[in-house]
Amino acid sequence: MNQRPVVNWNIVGGCNYRCSYCVQKHAEGVGGPDDEALERGLDVLCALPGVWEFKLSGGEPFLLKRLPEVAARLVGAGHRVSLLTNLSVPLPVIERFITAAGHGLRTFSCSLHVEETSPQAFLAKAIAAKQLLSALPKASFVVNHVVQPGRVSAAAALRREFEAAGMKFYPQLMRINGRPAPYGLIDRWKLDRAFADLAGPGSMNRGYSHQGKACHAGFRYFILHPKGDAYACYPAKRHGENYLGNIYQASFRLNDAPQLCPYAVCPCTVPQNRGIVIG
Ligand code: SF4
Ligand code: SF4
Repeated sequence: MNQRPVVNWNIVGGCNYRCSYCVQKHAEGVGGPDDEALERGLDVLCALPGVWEFKLSGGEPFLLKRLPEVAARLVGAGHRVSLLTNLSVPLPVIERFITAAGHGLRTFSCSLHVEETSPQAFLAKAIAAKQLLSALPKASFVVNHVVQPGRVSAAAALRREFEAAGMKFYPQLMRINGRPAPYGLIDRWKLDRAFADLAGPGSMNRGYSHQGKACHAGFRYFILHPKGDAYACYPAKRHGENYLGNIYQASFRLNDAPQLCPYAVCPCTVPQNRGIVIG
């Protein structure tokens, strides 16, 4: 697989939703950068050598009013942008973002959270948002959904409904504190029946392990916390390891070589799907 350098930028910590299974824990009190910090951070990121993809997420990234400008600045510097949103903002705001990112837009991901919105309202908006990508041949549209224990049949029904509407439906097994949530025998049987055809990180996030494999996290991939702290990957941050400095405080630097993965679970499929993990 071609290696595509990528950043998971949790650009704001806050969210307008309160999903019970949120791995970000809504990051209470962690807002986005102020204008000056954002300028400093954008200078650092725009200057990264080569072409990087910035996956903008949160919290809910649209809580940062300057999000379309962030996309335009990164793309203007030769980079690419992707997005992960809960799709709660009005369609004109989504359209502003898509227009700003233009041909630099890659993956537009939106997460369906049935605790906070009805699937029917979400689907109607997703269809309209996907339509906005029609002039961007390199952009793709994906609907993410966390499959909660005890709700596997409901998730399977959602998959059928969204796929029938022409959407890529991307199920994610739930995690608690970085570890896979426990699924009982009946849930596991239902998971097999409903999702067995979705093999690998490009089709479903099942919490894969790459322990011991060569990984370019920290070198060709990193994550950014809302306060600007950079880590090689999410497990590295959880363990307080492989810190790369802060983009808002001019202390950021990349590692200069890959490492062997020391972690039991690689919770985010973004690096796995961009050739960052080797082997
Ligand atoms: S929309 Fe996402 S970030 Fe917001 S509460 Fe739900 S899971 Fe957490
Ligand atoms: S968990 Fe391991 S494989 Fe995944 S990004 Fe981190 S170091 Fe790489």
